[in-house]
Amino acid sequence: MDIRPKRATTRGPVDWFTGDVWIDGIAAASEPPHARVSAVRFTPGARTAWHSHALGQTLYVTEGQGLVQARGAELQAIRAGDIVTTPAGEWHWHGAAPDHFMTHLSITERPETADTVETDWGAKVTDAEYAGQVPGA
Ligand code: MN
Repeated sequence: MDIRPKRATTRGPVDWFTGDVWIDGIAAASEPPHARVSAVRFTPGARTAWHSHALGQTLYVTEGQGLVQARGAELQAIRAGDIVTTPAGEWHWHGAAPDHFMTHLSITERPETADTVETDWGAKVTDAEYAGQVPGA
């Protein structure tokens, strides 16, 4: 058993997020870890860039209200208690609603081979996409 004091919260990298996003890494149960668990806090209007996960991802919304969109699909609202599962390789983004904070836990499995990236990052989500004006962008 190990009880670890809380580490400093880090800002989401500017290349991967729009707006202010704060991340607390939680779990790395083995070395190298098989999965990454993080608490991610999005300020109103903040969101990830478009991205996909090599082995998929589960999000558990713990607070607030947000938005998610898969490529080729409509924008969808999410709120505390919702669980969002994204299959391997599906392009998508997630973030806070325009007028609400949103916090989710993210559980991301990690590929065993070092040459497979866990998350493939693409373009930033535009304001038009964020406003739901570009379904299936
Ligand atoms: Mn994701």
